[in-house]
Amino acid sequence: MKQYTLLIGGERVATERHADIRNPSTGEVVGQMPLAGKAELDRAVAAASAAFAQWSRVPDGERAQACRNVADKIAEHAEDIAYLLTLEQGKPLNGLGSRFELGGALAWTRYTAELSLPVEVLQDDNEGRVELHRKPIGVTGSITPWNWPVMIACWHMIPAIRAGNTVVIKPSPLTPLSTIRLIEVMNEVLPAGVVNVITGENEIGAQLSAHPGIAKMSFTGSTETGKKVMASAVETLKRLTLELGGNDAGIVLPDADPGRIAEGLFWGAFINNGQTCAALKRLYVHDSLYDQVCQALTDYASKITVGDGLDEKSVLGPVQNAMQFNKLRELVDDAKAKGGRILLGGDPQEGPGYFYPVTLVADVDHGTRLVDEEQFGPVLPIIRYSDVEEVIQRANSTSFGLGGSVWSADAERARHYALQLECGSVWINKHGAIQPNAPFGGVKQSGIGVEFGAEGLKEFTVSQTVLS
Ligand code: NAD
Repeated sequence: MKQYTLLIGGERVATERHADIRNPSTGEVVGQMPLAGKAELDRAVAAASAAFAQWSRVPDGERAQACRNVADKIAEHAEDIAYLLTLEQGKPLNGLGSRFELGGALAWTRYTAELSLPVEVLQDDNEGRVELHRKPIGVTGSITPWNWPVMIACWHMIPAIRAGNTVVIKPSPLTPLSTIRLIEVMNEVLPAGVVNVITGENEIGAQLSAHPGIAKMSFTGSTETGKKVMASAVETLKRLTLELGGNDAGIVLPDADPGRIAEGLFWGAFINNGQTCAALKRLYVHDSLYDQVCQALTDYASKITVGDGLDEKSVLGPVQNAMQFNKLRELVDDAKAKGGRILLGGDPQEGPGYFYPVTLVADVDHGTRLVDEEQFGPVLPIIRYSDVEEVIQRANSTSFGLGGSVWSADAERARHYALQLECGSVWINKHGAIQPNAPFGGVKQSGIGVEFGAEGLKEFTVSQTVLS
């Protein structure tokens, strides 16, 4: 079985201890993750710090070119990274799976390579001249989750290096191998120490986010862990971008056409098996078309093939891990006990593999865990409502605020209600459709700061005002 190594200062670094990484479709070991300790972490931060001294002074155009070179390398190795991603994450190679994720990683890398933050002249007159410069921060730490590990790694790292910072990344212990491979590939075209990877259990994440040599943390994961990262940033006042959990509402207005919206609703909720931060996690449907929407969704969802990620025919794979699988089982059992009506699925097979069927649950409401909590899996609660103003209040009655959507034949009407949703991104007649030029982030307890575009790039800089 292949033993992977850390990559620090451009060199492969072997560790004494390893942990098995398993395929969620079969339970088989697919590789061994190196278990880094504090010494390796210190070494990675030191390497990134040494590299920062040069990298931060590289002319802007050369850094842009380096990011383009990274994109070319990702494109060259996309198929082998996608294969490894499927092996450890479970998502299918095909459809909106691993190849799609690599396509996303590439698109964001190419877009971000072309961004720049030129000096802004705020005043230039007889009274004086005021310039606003954007400077890199230093060594940035990146902690990523297991749902979209390669794409999220690029969201953290590419703007960081584009702006002149260096990176120590720590992927999820459930999906570390594709990130190690990504860092190897990036190191083929970047100076040593600009990007470094350490892997290990959660504790190494806590050590990274508390490390005094890290100037900024990019964290994507659960709200609970995000709060710990924020707490550990206090001592050195680290800059933070936190992309956390969500419980996105989708609201179907009475004038929507059930047949036309079913496919969009399905993929809004079930992309990556629902294991997506900004997936549609609570669907509110007006009483006048509730039964038609339930039927149209059931018709569409019942055609989806769930299977081993390596099978080219699979449209969805297993959920990623036992904790998720058990959580889904609990939430659906609770919904059934509270009168929830299972339209599809709801009855998972025993292993091998964490296969949870596509599940639609009707006639549930607030007060049911499936509605109140983030399920993060292929189970969608469908809630009936009769008053649009009131449903907006209910949709907003959560501490989360990542995404939301409104579905209607009348785009202006949808926009009117969309603006009332308390969330960082809101979609009309689609859900979760992120793009590299649209700033993305959460309000309330779904996060701090934004990623993507010039707004996201600025978060990897500190400003310096020059007055003369
Ligand atoms: P998680 O919080 O369990 O883990 C995320 C990362 O944090 C992992 O790398 C983990 O090893 C690390 N970690 C764990 N304990 C830590 C600690 N004390 N200090 C520092 N790091 C620590 O989340 P997960 O289960 O991997 O991911 C699922 C969650 O992520 C969901 O809530 C989902 O909504 C959220 N998510 C949000 C976005 C977004 O952009 N807002 C994107 C993807 C996922």
